[in-house]
Amino acid sequence: MSKLSGKVAVVTGGNSGIGYASAKELKSQGASVIITGRDSDKVQLAAKELGVKGIVADVKNISAIEDLVEQVKNDFGKVDILFVNAGIFQPAPVGQISEEMFDHQMGINFKGAVFTTERFLPILNDGASIINLSSVNAYTGMPNTAVYAASKAALNSYTRTAATELAPRQIRINSVNPGPVSTPIFSKTGMEEEQLNAFAEAMKSRVPLKRFGQPVDIAKLVAFLASDDASFITGSEYNIDGGININPLLS
Ligand code: NAD
Repeated sequence: MSKLSGKVAVVTGGNSGIGYASAKELKSQGASVIITGRDSDKVQLAAKELGVKGIVADVKNISAIEDLVEQVKNDFGKVDILFVNAGIFQPAPVGQISEEMFDHQMGINFKGAVFTTERFLPILNDGASIINLSSVNAYTGMPNTAVYAASKAALNSYTRTAATELAPRQIRINSVNPGPVSTPIFSKTGMEEEQLNAFAEAMKSRVPLKRFGQPVDIAKLVAFLASDDASFITGSEYNIDGGININPLLS
């Protein structure tokens, strides 16, 4: 397949999980891909495995995003696909939300995502596709996710407004809302293995399709939204969640 040949794609947080699978898919469909991440060794290892360019850039640091844009501009010129994927999950119950956790999670998932788009806009081609990686949590009241969910809901709100404002340039911007996907994001929360397993089982039982998503499931949707097949789609959101969002109360 070469639906994306000739296109330049940037995937933030492309060294792991959904970003890694999406970088692989975008490349397999013909795009030239740049991945980013925070950790130099991990970014370079993933870039080597994928056969793509790897650049270290912490999205919490706006000047690092600006350096990234400069480097991409110098090496690739303009960008056609921007997959704003980098994110973290830091669970905490209401009443125990620290200012540091709030700033960190919002700083990466919302502010980092917004300023990724803001700083890339000058080097996006007209007709480019921006895909924001959100979550079904944007619409749920799942315990311990108040700030995470708010960061994704805020991102979806930005997506809608940006879609209207970027339309004159034919730039499309959409959100992808995954349900639970098997990636390292959960083990990075600091939860014990036993807790993680219990969490995974409880989650799985609530998914009508009775499984976690795989990163490649999300990658296929990202590649579709990136392609000209999606040329009339902007300001939209796609749940990709095995049906968890319509989980019946009684079964
Ligand atoms: P992951 O931990 O495997 O990957 C996260 C990626 O983001 C990594 O490459 C990491 O380096 C990068 N990242 C984190 N903080 C960063 C920063 N400050 N600067 C640059 N890069 C940074 O997790 P994943 O599950 O693949 O997560 C990808 C996205 O998917 C996140 O936005 C997450 O919120 C979202 N998501 C995940 C799930 C899930 O169940 N896994 C569900 C819904 C949404």
